[in-house]
Amino acid sequence: MQQPAGNNLHNTHSPTAGSISNILVAVCGGIAVYKSITLVRRLIDAGFNVRVLMTEGAQAFVTPLTFQAVSGNPVHTQLLDSSAEAAMGHIELAKWAHLIVIAPATANTIAHIAQGLAHRLLETVLLATTAPVWLYPSMNQAMWANAMVQHNCQLLISMGYKVHTPASGIQACGDQGLGRLPEPEDIATAIVNWQRAQQSLGLLAGKRVLITAGPTQEAIDPVRYLSNYSTGKMGYALAEACLLAGAKVTLVSGPVQLPALVGVRIIKVVSAAAMQQAVLAELNDQVDVFVATAAVADYRPAEPSPNKIKKHADIMNIALHKNPDILASVASHTLRPAMVVGFAAETQDMETYAQDKLTRKKLDMIVANDVSRSDIGFAADDNAVSVWLANGDKIVVNKAPKWAIAQALVVLIADKLKAGKA
Ligand code: C5P
Repeated sequence: MQQPAGNNLHNTHSPTAGSISNILVAVCGGIAVYKSITLVRRLIDAGFNVRVLMTEGAQAFVTPLTFQAVSGNPVHTQLLDSSAEAAMGHIELAKWAHLIVIAPATANTIAHIAQGLAHRLLETVLLATTAPVWLYPSMNQAMWANAMVQHNCQLLISMGYKVHTPASGIQACGDQGLGRLPEPEDIATAIVNWQRAQQSLGLLAGKRVLITAGPTQEAIDPVRYLSNYSTGKMGYALAEACLLAGAKVTLVSGPVQLPALVGVRIIKVVSAAAMQQAVLAELNDQVDVFVATAAVADYRPAEPSPNKIKKHADIMNIALHKNPDILASVASHTLRPAMVVGFAAETQDMETYAQDKLTRKKLDMIVANDVSRSDIGFAADDNAVSVWLANGDKIVVNKAPKWAIAQALVVLIADKLKAGKA
């Protein structure tokens, strides 16, 4: 049966109704205001609804019209303005926001908030909101180091505000040190990551997930090997998504050029045989989910040469032996986890091959992607997948960054775990 993909499965990159999607960016009067314009742009690009609140100081640097143009919404500037209040009053604005980001946050505004004042629109909205509030302080390095500013920041942290440490570097005034507003891209990434974490919060809490990722390399001789184009991006994205969903994650990774994931236990291997050995050593009755994203080499040289093979012959034959099927061995193991998920990278007849693997390897779920397309699959940052479940259901996840695909898969895995097997 073809299932319509749920909201969280289609275009997961764009937050959907009912999800965390409304960001109020509050801009105070500092030279870093120019970066806030890019921040709003990046948040819009990431699919958020953005409203901007400007203090009077901010308007000395940039006009509200600029922020209105980039956010696509009227800018909020006044507490006591009947027309603005009629459109969206301070209480409605406080309720509308799923997250309030104050960037830049000046020493003056930080002091106002720490005193609980309600004399301007910004402080009043903060008192009226239940949304998380993030501050990005931005000021001269000596001001940032000032005991009063630090005291105020500590007070805000103790009350649940998130105060981000400023970036370091050359400042507009010529000083060097802490006090710069981080790059807008970095702030936007932090917000997107937070949104992801919120949306999958606790979905896999208490669950243990074992994942394989990347290619394997099969030695021909000490300097050559057989392998494939897998980069490990999908497996690492999935490991991160499972971690964000609260799972304990072990990643058995082939050789990849990706940074280690903080919080994920990574076991590095090279060959398919070593990958299988590591996976079976990790398998126990505590593992709830096994996901095989690795592009395991199907064959290995039967007898790798101990020395470098010299190029004498015009034609060279290398005898190959079939590698063990790690996924199938886990699916038929006595310690089989409740959910066993495979990936199918296909260049043709995706549906037939994927469904064949699902039944032949005794899986609960197979995730198929078309690796003949250059914009998705192996080395790309994006992917688009079709998922088949053991009961015949099919779910399509549209093209999106691999992290978004991973998040969609986590939702699906959690769903099936909860319901019992697919
Ligand atoms: O049969 P095929 O290699 O296309 O199956 C792909 C799925 O099986 C992937 O999930 C892959 O990680 C897994 N696999 C495996 N061990 C192998 C070959 C594939 O775990 N030797």
